[in-house]
Amino acid sequence: MDKVIVIRYGEIFLKGKNRGFFEKLLINNIEKKVKKYDCKFSRSRGRYEISEYKLSQESDIVRDLQTVFGIKSVSIAQKIKSDIDIMTDVILSKMPKTGSFRINTHRADKTFPFTSPQISAIVGEKVLENNSSLTVDLHNPDIEVQIDVREGGHTYVFTDIVECAGGMPVGSAGKGLLLLSGGIDSPVSGYMMAKRGLSLDAIHFFSYPYTSLQAKEKVIELAKIISEFCGSINLVVVPFTKIQETIHEKCSPDFMITIVRRFMMRIAERVAIFRDCGCLVNGESLGQVASQTLQSITVTNDVIKKLPVFRPAIGMDKQEIIDISRKIGTYDTSVLPYEDCCTVFMPDSPVTKPTIQRAEIEEAKIGDIEALIEDALDNLEIVKIEI
Ligand code: ATP
Ligand code: MG
Repeated sequence: MDKVIVIRYGEIFLKGKNRGFFEKLLINNIEKKVKKYDCKFSRSRGRYEISEYKLSQESDIVRDLQTVFGIKSVSIAQKIKSDIDIMTDVILSKMPKTGSFRINTHRADKTFPFTSPQISAIVGEKVLENNSSLTVDLHNPDIEVQIDVREGGHTYVFTDIVECAGGMPVGSAGKGLLLLSGGIDSPVSGYMMAKRGLSLDAIHFFSYPYTSLQAKEKVIELAKIISEFCGSINLVVVPFTKIQETIHEKCSPDFMITIVRRFMMRIAERVAIFRDCGCLVNGESLGQVASQTLQSITVTNDVIKKLPVFRPAIGMDKQEIIDISRKIGTYDTSVLPYEDCCTVFMPDSPVTKPTIQRAEIEEAKIGDIEALIEDALDNLEIVKIEI
């Protein structure tokens, strides 16, 4: 009898002719995640399994599996031969001396000579014969035992089902470029898109010395935290000081943030195309601040010509975003008090209803926009975050 960790994956994406593609990615992502442990990963139809691991590492392995998108749930199980008496013995060993229980059976192996309800009934009866202090309660049992009869003659017996991240295997939907600030919303947005199968690169606009090296370290730290879910990330750091100084010098203060955003979007789109990313991702949430009104988003989005921009937080309340950031572990880093480039030179009352026409008039005052962008693109720094 072996103790194993059984991994269940979302069946939906594994149907149809893309099955091989999805499954390969999921297996790859799981193997990458558990390679630091001394353990064996194997697959059978419909389930994956981790075995031969150190018991002291069991909870760490489970916690790591919870960060792999595409896994629906895991259980720590006893793996036994598909045999009614052995099932009974294992269940007896899991039971307290007294109390109520219920058995749920799932039978994938249709050659096993009893149906699922029959297995539950037979094993349940044998358990009661062996311990008359136990009772069966189908509605509100103290313990629920699961019997999962697999093809190939083996069965998993377990009590707990640990819910995992769900979603699609990272990489299955292609790659996106995440505009990563030091705030709360953008790391959460990256996480949400990775859940739908995007792998990510990230881009950060950095205005040294107006924003400190600590602010950059904070962004690197955020990228590291989300890489636990999203996989390796190349973080592109764009020197943004000269652009911000120029906008500050030449444009009307109330348009500062609008024009800054338009530059970010232009640069992000070029970097994305160069790095084979098929979309941009940002942390905008409708109406959250002046730069995120419908009019502001229209004006910043206007400079994007080729790629879709995904904004998974667009319809979420701040508290909902904060809840996810706490769950994924970015919150404490996001709220560290280092300034973001968006707070540099910002006017007290930015325009909330900009127009494209006004933005173009303001930008005309800058002169050679292209030269500024080229200069920033020539001086990118790339920080590799490998998992
Ligand atoms: P966040 O919490 O993600 O910083 P926010 O509510 O502070 O969001 P803004 O600062 O207005 O909102 O930024 C909106 C979005 O623009 C961010 O979510 C992020 O995607 C992008 N962004 C802002 N500043 C930067 C930056 N310095 N580098 C990269 N992207 C940025
Ligand atoms: Mg911000």
